[in-house]
Amino acid sequence: MTTDERTLPLELDRSAVVRLGGHVVDFLADWVDEQGSAPASDYAQAERLAEGLRRPPADDPGDFAALLETFRQAAGQGVNTAGPGYLAYFPAGGLVTAALAELLAQAANRYTGVAQMAPALVAMEHGVLTWLCDRFGLPAGAGGLATTGGSVATLSALLAARHSRPGSEDGTVYVSEHTHYCVAKAARIAGLPAERIRTVPATASLRMDVRATAELIAADRAAGLRPFLLVGTAGTTSSGTVDPLPELGELARREGLWFHVDAAYGGGFQLTERGRAQLAGIEAADSIVLDPHKSLFLPYGTGVLLVRDPAVLHAAHAADGRYLQDLSPTDDLPDFGHLGVELTREFRGLRLWLPLHLHGVRAFERELDEKLDLTASLYRQLVQDPRFELPWPPDLTVVLFRIRGTDAQNRRLLAEINSTQRVFLSSTTIDGRFFLRLCVLSFRTHADRVDEALGIIRSAAALMTGQNP
Ligand SMILES: *Cc1c(COP(=O)(O)O)cnc(C)c1O
Repeated sequence: MTTDERTLPLELDRSAVVRLGGHVVDFLADWVDEQGSAPASDYAQAERLAEGLRRPPADDPGDFAALLETFRQAAGQGVNTAGPGYLAYFPAGGLVTAALAELLAQAANRYTGVAQMAPALVAMEHGVLTWLCDRFGLPAGAGGLATTGGSVATLSALLAARHSRPGSEDGTVYVSEHTHYCVAKAARIAGLPAERIRTVPATASLRMDVRATAELIAADRAAGLRPFLLVGTAGTTSSGTVDPLPELGELARREGLWFHVDAAYGGGFQLTERGRAQLAGIEAADSIVLDPHKSLFLPYGTGVLLVRDPAVLHAAHAADGRYLQDLSPTDDLPDFGHLGVELTREFRGLRLWLPLHLHGVRAFERELDEKLDLTASLYRQLVQDPRFELPWPPDLTVVLFRIRGTDAQNRRLLAEINSTQRVFLSSTTIDGRFFLRLCVLSFRTHADRVDEALGIIRSAAALMTGQNP
C-alpha cells in the first residue's frame, strides 16, 4: 500500500490482493535466488534490529514494502536453516511449493478437526496418511494424524499404547540411551513417573541392545512391573543410527508390548530403496512417528503419526461435548480432532498433498538418494584422512567425526568451521566424547556445497593440528 492511504480494511478487494500478493511473489523470488550466497549463519545485526522489531503495532496502516523489508532483515539473523550450507541438526524445509500450499490453506481456513466440516479436504489429508501407511507396509485400515511435529505425535502414540494395554498406568517403557528425549517428555506429560522409563544401553555400534532389553523386561516383570511399550528408533538424533528393528519388533510381539518406531528423522528415507533396506522391520510397528519437516523437506510444524489400528488412537483421545452435537462421524473419514491432542487444528494436509502431487514422489526419492550419496562420499573422504577419527559409518545422512586431539580442540574446530558462514555444523557427545556432527538433508544442499564443506573442514583441521593431510 502507499503511504497516503489512510485505511486498509481487513477485507481486501481484488486489486489489493493482486498488489499485496505481487509484493510477496517478488519477495519470494528474490529470496530463493539469494539462498546460495546467503550466510549459513549471521548474528551481526540481531541486537541492533531487536529493539525496532519489538515496537508495538501502530494504529494506522503500515507500508507493506517496508514491513516485508523488516521481515527480510529479521529472517537473515541467526542460522539459515533453509539454505544449502545448513548441515546441522536435521535440516530440510523451505520447499517453496509447500509455502504456496500454505498460503492457500490459510486463506481458505477450512475446519478439518471434524470430517463433516470439510470432508473433501479431510479426504486429501487422509489420502496422504494412508499412502504413507502403505509405504511403511502397515496393513489396510491403518491410519494416522498430521501433527505439529514428532514430539506431539509421540505423546499420542504413548497414550494409545497405554490405552491398549490394561494396567499400564503403572507400566514401564523401554528406550535406548540414544532415544530422543521426546519419549521421556511424553511419558512425563502422561503422568508416568520418570523411573518407569527404562533406558537400555546401546551396543558399540550405537544400536539399542536387544538382549539387554529382553533381560530388563524379564527383570521388571519378575519385580512386579508391567512392561507395555518398546521404542525403537529409525535414525537416532545424535548419529542417525537405525536400531535393529526386526529383532526389537519380534521381542515386542513375544512380550506383548506395543512396538513404537521413532522414524522422525529416518522415516522419509522409506521412499528410497536404501532407506527401505535400512528400515526393514518397521512394518511390524504398532505406531510410527515421522517428521515431514525433516526428511520430506516440508516447513516446521509438520509431523506425522501412523498407527496400525486407528481405533486405539481414537479410544485414547476421543471426547464428547454438547456443543459438538451437530457433528456426526463421517463414513470412511477420520475426525482428526478425536485422534490427537488438538481439536481445532490447522489444515496441514495441503502442505503435504500439493508438493507430493505437483513434484511427484520420484522427485522426493531422487533428492533423498542424492543426500545418501553425498553423505557416503563425504564419509569416505574424511575416513581416509588420518587426522580424523570416524568410529561409525553413517546408516543414513549423519556423519560424526573429530580430530585426534582433545574435546577442547574439537570445540574450537567446530567454531572455526562455522565462522566461515558458508556451512553450519553442530556437535554431540557420545560415551562422554565430543563429536562434530554433519547432516546432509537440505534439498538445497548438493555436491558443490558438500565439497566446499570438506575443504573448510580440512583447512580448519590443518589450522588446529598444524598438519596437512
Ligand atoms: C526431531 C526428533 C524428534 C522430535 O521431533 P520434533 O518434530 O522436533 O518435535 C523425535 N525423535 C527423533 C529421532 C528426532 O530426530
